[in-house]
Amino acid sequence: MRKLYEGKAKIVYETEDPNKVILFFKDTASAFDGVKKAEIKGKGELNNTISSILFEVLEKRGVKTHYIRKLSEREMLVWRAERFPVEVVVRNVATGSIVKRLGIKEGTKFKRPLLEFFMKDDKLHDPMVCEEHITLLGLAPEDAIPLMKETALKVNEVLREVFSKGGIILVDFKLEFGRLPDGSVAVVDEITPDTMRLWDEKTGEKLDKDRFRFDLGDLLEGYKRVLDSLRGS
Ligand code: UDP
Repeated sequence: MRKLYEGKAKIVYETEDPNKVILFFKDTASAFDGVKKAEIKGKGELNNTISSILFEVLEKRGVKTHYIRKLSEREMLVWRAERFPVEVVVRNVATGSIVKRLGIKEGTKFKRPLLEFFMKDDKLHDPMVCEEHITLLGLAPEDAIPLMKETALKVNEVLREVFSKGGIILVDFKLEFGRLPDGSVAVVDEITPDTMRLWDEKTGEKLDKDRFRFDLGDLLEGYKRVLDSLRGS
């Protein structure tokens, strides 16, 4: 299989079908624009499984995604997409960059979900952008913006519900979007504890990549708790 692209957490491989690609989930953990890095055996498998379950839930609830099926422990088959260099972040509780950027108190609950856009550009450290930037810089088609917003809020509703059943608070998450071969705009990339913040409802324990970012404890233990909650145990 020819490698099309290798990122920090995944490798994209070509398939015989030009409209489909394989995502291979690596065991690499990285944070702070790749400054902090480690190999964590088992992370790829957990992220592939978690992301597959979440994409299946979202598809069932009418959210269009690039997901086709889970192929193996570390591989997922997806529709090939023309990705927009935009990250859509939805926040229910203030933490991370917004606390530093706007001086909001850590842990503040928002009255309603807060949606933000960032430009995907490592060299510029993913700066925050507004809808006008997205349109005028051509980061995504103008008509995709309302759809991205509506979809991100729907994903928030569905995932909040799913995680709350397992006693987990969905604090925030990042989505990426792209155009699929059939011309539709869909959620692409991954939805994993690398791209979400998840807190234990009772203890407040962080179960996501913040464990790695800030050395809060074993990363796999947190990710396994997330997977167990999705499997209903
Ligand atoms: N996020 C991500 N990729 C990025 C930036 C953020 O997946 O390049 C996720 C992050 O894990 C969190 C949410 O988006 O769940 C909001 O992140 P934030 O803006 O607080 O940035 P951070 O503090 O992670 O730099």
